[in-house]
Amino acid sequence: MPISEPEVLKALESVIDPDLNRDIVSLGFVKKVSVDGGVVSVTVELTTPACPVKDLLRDQCADAIRALPGVESVEVQMTAAVRPREIPKEDALPHVRHCIAIASGKGGVGKSTVTVNLAAALAQSGAAVGVLDADVYGPSIPMMLGCRQYPYTQDGKIVPIETHGLKVMSFGPLVRRKGKPVMWRGPMVATTVRQLLQDVDWGELDYLLIDLPPGTGDAPMSVAQLAPLTGVVLVATPQHVAANIAAKSIALFEKLEAPILGVVENMAEFLCPSCGTATRIFSGLGGEELARRFSVPFLGSVPLDPAISESSDEGEPSFLAHSERPQADAFRVIAGNMAAQISIATLSKQPTPTAG
Ligand code: ADP
Repeated sequence: MPISEPEVLKALESVIDPDLNRDIVSLGFVKKVSVDGGVVSVTVELTTPACPVKDLLRDQCADAIRALPGVESVEVQMTAAVRPREIPKEDALPHVRHCIAIASGKGGVGKSTVTVNLAAALAQSGAAVGVLDADVYGPSIPMMLGCRQYPYTQDGKIVPIETHGLKVMSFGPLVRRKGKPVMWRGPMVATTVRQLLQDVDWGELDYLLIDLPPGTGDAPMSVAQLAPLTGVVLVATPQHVAANIAAKSIALFEKLEAPILGVVENMAEFLCPSCGTATRIFSGLGGEELARRFSVPFLGSVPLDPAISESSDEGEPSFLAHSERPQADAFRVIAGNMAAQISIATLSKQPTPTAG
């Protein structure tokens, strides 16, 4: 009996996406099935190129098909297309599939560092990624990404700077006038952010990461309200995640109906470069416990690594400059977990796609 395509689909129903908790056929991930004698080829389209379980799913698909009688060889091709959020007609950013705010209860915890490195990790996986530096109080993204040129306008739109495979736009040039910081109040921040969001020619983006001003004042909140956010990532260090600051941030974003995609713990551990021993530096509440306490996902932990600040100072994300170090793996894992949470948030709002 020759193998049939429905038989292959039936076999693939046993493959469950562990993040979405559903089988890949009913999720509409199986895009192509072809059978040529005993040779079976399938194409599986995931919801993000940064999918943390890509290899696992590929192996499970191959095993499920191989178990069918008569199969001699299997080819599983994995592709990805980021499923967009629901985009209303009057949307400020119709070509941006997801806007993600990176927030922190207070400054100096590594919010901008996490933003540029997550952006670099997502871009390396194959996603189209932009970074909007909306941290009016300390716009450090241009320095961290080594942006030397200024953005310019073309056909009435601002053209973002392109560097390290990312499209970048910052408050930086607007904030530093003749070396003096400008005093920004909430409404000014809101007006400028609206301009940066709407008047920038972002092109098609899978993910736009927005580095928010720190804290829970009106500046971060007005930015969060203006952008059509899929969700918020909260960056915290153990000594600063004094539960009340973090709780306040989480509560405020939830009030704005911006789901918390998860918590990133930064600088909790120092990895000894010679012996590899991990030392926890602060005794405060860790990110994992914080996430558990507020029932939000824990995305991962970035170790304290001098290479991270050195490469920031040199204008290159440490994820790219020191890809051999554990910090790069940490950023890859966190980017994958964040992308998975975005897929979960998006698919939970959409009707079940049909397989085919
Ligand atoms: P924020 O955006 O929260 O104000 P930054 O990203 O600017 O914080 O980080 C503050 C400082 O800490 C910077 O000098 C940065 O290079 C450094 N830093 C952040 N995370 C790490 C890390 N995991 N290891 C070493 N240095 C870090």
